[in-house]
Amino acid sequence: MKQRSVRQDSPYYSGITRRQALGFLGTGTAAALSAKDSRLPKGAIIRTVLQDLRPEELAAGATLFHEHLSLAPDFMPRWIALARGGRSGAAPPSAQPFFMEDLDLMVDEVKTAHREGVSCIVDGGHEDMGRRLDFLKQISERSGMPIVASTGFYTQPFYPPEIAGWSEDQIAQDVIHKANTQPLGALGEIGSWDLITDDERKVFRAIAKVHGATNLPIFTHTGIPGKSAMEQLDILEKGGVKPARVVIGHLGNLVDPEVKVQSEICKRGAFVGFDRQGGPGDAQQVPMVLKLIDEGYADHLMFASDFSSATQLKRNGGAGYAKTVTVFAPKLRAAGVKEDVLHGILVDNPRRFLAFVPRKSRRSLGV
Ligand SMILES: [Zn+2]
Repeated sequence: MKQRSVRQDSPYYSGITRRQALGFLGTGTAAALSAKDSRLPKGAIIRTVLQDLRPEELAAGATLFHEHLSLAPDFMPRWIALARGGRSGAAPPSAQPFFMEDLDLMVDEVKTAHREGVSCIVDGGHEDMGRRLDFLKQISERSGMPIVASTGFYTQPFYPPEIAGWSEDQIAQDVIHKANTQPLGALGEIGSWDLITDDERKVFRAIAKVHGATNLPIFTHTGIPGKSAMEQLDILEKGGVKPARVVIGHLGNLVDPEVKVQSEICKRGAFVGFDRQGGPGDAQQVPMVLKLIDEGYADHLMFASDFSSATQLKRNGGAGYAKTVTVFAPKLRAAGVKEDVLHGILVDNPRRFLAFVPRKSRRSLGV
């Protein structure tokens, strides 16, 4: 797949002149990248649905580490019903066809995000959320956007019934089999719905084993507000996962001017996900991001939007899939965050996170 060069009219570079942008993309980026890339093990690749890429091939723009391009039509209605306290999670009927099943629409939306400065999108879904791998491949082929697909199990209310009876090893073997036969580039989103349950602990221990067998990076889902975040990292670390291979997700929801939990996670070497960006939550989260940057943790921040609602689509007047770059990043710029720091967070951190040395070659996947 041909990688597009960065467009100078991209809002990612708004606020700087064309000349500055060229300088930024030239010497500045090259220096920053060589420093970052030296931290990557030899042979590290980013596994997208269509091909394995060298991390430097995604240097032209932002990589969004947690979005959704394919979910079952009833996933979000169930999610919302559960979040409102419903026990069954039953979905109300929808009058509209679901946008994540409309290939032409999704290709248009993703192409626009590409033009707006996004170089790669990680889809955070998997089978128990209704994610369709073929659909992701079709979007990627037609839009030219590299897409990373994930695998795992989501959260207790969405687990398939067999999870309750499976041992940790059975869960691990199931996910390892998927990772060894499909083009999957991450373990995510792996979550706890509320306070972490025993089944969710079991899945987290299994995912640590999957990581040990595959080297795939891990990103998590925490219940609002950041519930069981530390325990998620504890379980993974105890299972042998290095914190640098983990993003603890949805921690923008944990609004705390002192950023205690977020700082602790950074200090332990993991990434903190501010991953519902480009909307009304930004105002509370900008000061938290500034504090973490001040504390020296810019290398541990990860941004995305967890895109999941039709109202956010460009077609419907929303900011679209690039809103982390076009809506949230400008707020950080306006608050004084320097361009090289933003570049490090949006472009370098996710590539460093996603790059892994595969145990299974692309060819041996049989895809
Ligand atoms: Zn998500």
